[in-house]
Amino acid sequence: MPFNKSPETKIVYNFRNTCYRCFNDIEYPLLGDFSYGELLFQTIDGKDFYYVALIDNETFAFVCQYLKDNTQQKIKKLDPQKILALLADKPGDKEFSINYPICPICKQKQNHFNDNVRTTQRVVEFAKWTEFENLTEEKIDKIIAEFGRPDFDPEKKYEI
Ligand SMILES: [Zn+2]
Repeated sequence: MPFNKSPETKIVYNFRNTCYRCFNDIEYPLLGDFSYGELLFQTIDGKDFYYVALIDNETFAFVCQYLKDNTQQKIKKLDPQKILALLADKPGDKEFSINYPICPICKQKQNHFNDNVRTTQRVVEFAKWTEFENLTEEKIDKIIAEFGRPDFDPEKKYEI
């Protein structure tokens, strides 16, 4: 019988900003200035957030090595952090955005943090790569090759 462990969580702070595109006041968590090696992922509907530690992250180490060893320039140049988002287990079957943060209303990537008012705390779960870790090498090759295609659209639904 599987041991039903509660998921690992992390407390982060929400910040309120005005979306520069739709002008709604929106909130999303941001990590502090000393968050080297840490990331947040956001589902493409903009609603859910997950925490990622890059240090001691086996999938991240694998992806970095894979890109480094790959002989195809297109694949070598892929951003390992974006690949990591694409390969993560999909909570409630929702993909992760390769951009962070996006507006939960208009989905536009936010580049300007004009207001940046710290508001409430939020508990976020750790992202996982259980599905990816169980794939065969052949399947992994196929998936990552797909990411290197010129017509690859990371915001489109992608089946592992
Ligand atoms: Zn917006």
